[in-house]
Amino acid sequence: MSSKAFATTLREPAELVAHGLARASDLADIEKVAARYAVAVTPGVAALIDVNDPNDPIARQFIPTAAELASQPGEHADPIGDHTHSPVVGIVHRYPDRVLFKLVHVCAVYCRFCFRREMVGPGSDTALSDAAYAGALAYIREHSEIWEVILTGGDPLMLSPRRMADIMADLAAIDHVKIIRIHTRVPVADPRRVTEEMVAALKARGATCWVALHANHARELTGEARAACARLVDAGIPMVSQSVLLRGVNDDAATLEDLMRAFVECRIKPYYLHHGDLAPGTAHLRTTLADGQELMRALRGRVSGLCQPDYVLDIPGGAGKSPVGPNYLLPQNSVAGGGNAPDGREARQDARYRVIDYCGEVHMYPPQP
Ligand code: SF4
Repeated sequence: MSSKAFATTLREPAELVAHGLARASDLADIEKVAARYAVAVTPGVAALIDVNDPNDPIARQFIPTAAELASQPGEHADPIGDHTHSPVVGIVHRYPDRVLFKLVHVCAVYCRFCFRREMVGPGSDTALSDAAYAGALAYIREHSEIWEVILTGGDPLMLSPRRMADIMADLAAIDHVKIIRIHTRVPVADPRRVTEEMVAALKARGATCWVALHANHARELTGEARAACARLVDAGIPMVSQSVLLRGVNDDAATLEDLMRAFVECRIKPYYLHHGDLAPGTAHLRTTLADGQELMRALRGRVSGLCQPDYVLDIPGGAGKSPVGPNYLLPQNSVAGGGNAPDGREARQDARYRVIDYCGEVHMYPPQP
């Protein structure tokens, strides 16, 4: 749909204009954005953009706009508190049984809503130094409670297959590390990187690898992207999805339904639908929590349970994720048996609830005798 085909990733605002992906009249603003936040649009992603649609959902994710120059109160350079929970360089240890291992700071594409937008992008420290890598590995080795290591960044699949194989082997050699989860956008942004060699690299002996795919619109799951995911799943690597709820991209029930169905068709279990984080200059892409809950309610009524992600909010500052979807179980004030139970346990056993079904109808539980 982009006006001119090209072979390499576009990184300069003038290139975006030259290829019809941005207006010349916006160039000065886009240059200001690009001076602060990384820009990259792969040929495959650019081809998905309808340059004649000013509200194109793919363009909204990747083409910079002047709106990014305005920060809102509450937005923060480290919105989910990575730094607060980083005991050594490259590691974020927020929950007892798992750590994030941030290997690289580069991505195939740069999302305009990225919660790590102040930390990712090309620069002098695009990957961990050898010393930092060794320090991070030692930390994981010394903490026997770490069951799962989540490789993130940046995008770990920007590394070469040989480097990935070494990293997977290093982690799998640690007895208590049983799960290695890779967070990536590469299968949709640059599917040709998911080579047979890369797939083989992820299959380290001694640990189970899971891949979490980040995609926000069904159009991102092109034939090439689906083939890349199939290479992973066919090799026995289970996949889950993560998406961000984004205003003007996927904040309507039909679009979310298409996305979740597409994931499941690709053998990817919908896992997380993230509420937009308070990253600087991203307010124009965030919805309200009430909108998100309403969409989740609508999704529940439209698609199979297989297609239901958890709608989650990362609590600003680093307290972790909480599910923030709608509640279908509400206490009813009246307590069966008169409410004069002698102890709390009996009162709880007698409690009655209102349960809301997928059509919004309210039912009593247990039912009225
Ligand atoms: S791929 Fe992930 S880390 Fe990279 S810019 Fe997008 S959201 Fe941020």
